[in-house]
Amino acid sequence: MTAAPIAERPSAQPPGEPTPALRLRGLSVSFHSRRGAIPAVRDVSLDVARGQLLALLGESGSGKSVTARAIMGLHDARTTDVSATTLEVAGVNLQTQNADELRRLRGSTMSLVFQDALSALNPVLTIGDQIGELYRQHHGASRKRARSQSAEMLSLVGIPGATARIDDYPHQFSGGMRQRLLIAMAIALEPELLIADEPTTALDVTVQAQILELLDRLRRELNMGVLLITHDLGVVCEVADSVAVMYAGRIVETASADALFDRPAHPYAEALLTSVPTLGHVGSELPVIPGSPPVPAALPSGCAFHPRCAWAVESCRTTRPELRTVTQGRQAACLRAEEVIRVER
Ligand code: ADP
Ligand code: MG
Repeated sequence: MTAAPIAERPSAQPPGEPTPALRLRGLSVSFHSRRGAIPAVRDVSLDVARGQLLALLGESGSGKSVTARAIMGLHDARTTDVSATTLEVAGVNLQTQNADELRRLRGSTMSLVFQDALSALNPVLTIGDQIGELYRQHHGASRKRARSQSAEMLSLVGIPGATARIDDYPHQFSGGMRQRLLIAMAIALEPELLIADEPTTALDVTVQAQILELLDRLRRELNMGVLLITHDLGVVCEVADSVAVMYAGRIVETASADALFDRPAHPYAEALLTSVPTLGHVGSELPVIPGSPPVPAALPSGCAFHPRCAWAVESCRTTRPELRTVTQGRQAACLRAEEVIRVER
């Protein structure tokens, strides 16, 4: 693997400590439109350590994919304003990289897996050629070496009979196996940060569980930070160490996964937890969060969640709560977080 140039490593890092996979501070993304700027992501900060799996959880439209694309440097600068006070992946400051350098870092230092495996794979190239191309381009590997490394990668992600399948085309694999192929391509160059954007949404439940197990194993084996984007709480309980809950473009709560499930501190996180189907709910009506999430072009005043919030008081309409520490290891952006977290459930 190509190491980051020494000059780009932050000097504050204690010697011997690996740099975090992701250090993001104050990310804001807005899209240009005829009616003005659309603020899709506002002041988002995230940390992912090596080997850690952080789930970014939120309803559809909350800004999760926009955040992922901003980290990867994939937004079109002609139509999108992206700003951050810090954006570092494996100690490399991405804000000072030019387009060529960013392209090289994508794949080798950070990579992104989407849910739509079929459209992300090239239908006219064999799997061996597609993965092998990465080794040839980034490492200058010979054809033979690229082929054997591709086969190793297929077996690492659990494709049965990996060596025999290297000459197959994407359509010859099932949906779940194609998702494994995409993950193989994303981790082939051993990135320090893997962002998986709803990687299991299109898959059936059994395959979903297998893909999550795979991500869980790979981050340990490769000591890779994983940012797992999902709207599915089941996915979070399965594998996440910690969770950042996103609502209307902002992080509203961060906590360890256990702490969040035990005692949410933000009413939105609380509402998400109570809307999860559990055995107790079989046959009865599932609670749902009333109302729908706001669009970034028309955000409510004060706390963006207040129109849907069972805890809302008058000041929630006017005051936007900052994300602040509520208890050790727990941050929430709610005026009433201390009361919410105390509720016995
Ligand atoms: P999700 O959390 O479901 O991944 P997204 O990050 O895709 O949500 O989108 C967040 C918000 O930004 C949505 O309201 C979406 O409509 C808006 N958005 C995303 N991409 C664009 C774009 N290119 N132009 C304008 N608005 C966009
Ligand atoms: Mg999305």
